[in-house]
Amino acid sequence: MDKIAEFRNLIEESRRIVFLTGAGISTASGLADFRGKEGLEKRKSPVPYETLLSIDFFERDPETFYKYYKEFLIVGDAQPNVAHKKIAALGEKAAVVTQNIDGLHQLAGSKNVTEVHGTTLTYRCVRCRKTYPESYIKRAPGVPKCDCGAVLRPDIVFYGEMLDDRKVEKAVREIRACDLLVVVGSSLVVYPAAGLVQYRPRSAKFVIVNYDPTPYDAYADLVLHDDISIVFGAI
Ligand code: ZN
Repeated sequence: MDKIAEFRNLIEESRRIVFLTGAGISTASGLADFRGKEGLEKRKSPVPYETLLSIDFFERDPETFYKYYKEFLIVGDAQPNVAHKKIAALGEKAAVVTQNIDGLHQLAGSKNVTEVHGTTLTYRCVRCRKTYPESYIKRAPGVPKCDCGAVLRPDIVFYGEMLDDRKVEKAVREIRACDLLVVVGSSLVVYPAAGLVQYRPRSAKFVIVNYDPTPYDAYADLVLHDDISIVFGAI
């Protein structure tokens, strides 16, 4: 049996699937890898990405932050691709835990999505915590401000900030309850993804779909080093 057929069978036979997704699933939608070097360097942001996405920089210079954030990092017209759509089509038997902040899983129709690095789709006031949608940020000239006059920040986890414990705990709960864990487009070298896969039950099947090898390939029941769009297009 070929690997695609094997993957298809595992998905059909499983009752509770967790898809753990990383930048690789979004680059297939033409998005830059938000946290990866490649994206920003290719698109030549004058401020290095690790600086731009650090909480220190945001607090020190929100004007420069928003100038480049709007130019280089906001999602714009990116659409879910075949992988987002196939995952969403599985309905309630599929949960998503993602490192991505682009909201494309929700846009594809997935209901149970845990975004461990937050999202660029929502914003909040740094003072009163009132929330605002992305459309408000796109319309606002310069630094977007709350009704109360304070600066708005994206609901993302900046470098220098802790992950949200509640989200990490939810991700762990989902993974502990699955009978199939599928990693899609993550190299599994960076926390938290690397740590999360270790919570899968011993009885659960483990599949990795990633273009490049990962440190967990040896532990997986099935590894597909192929283009994500091609794999998901074929299942
Ligand atoms: Zn406010």
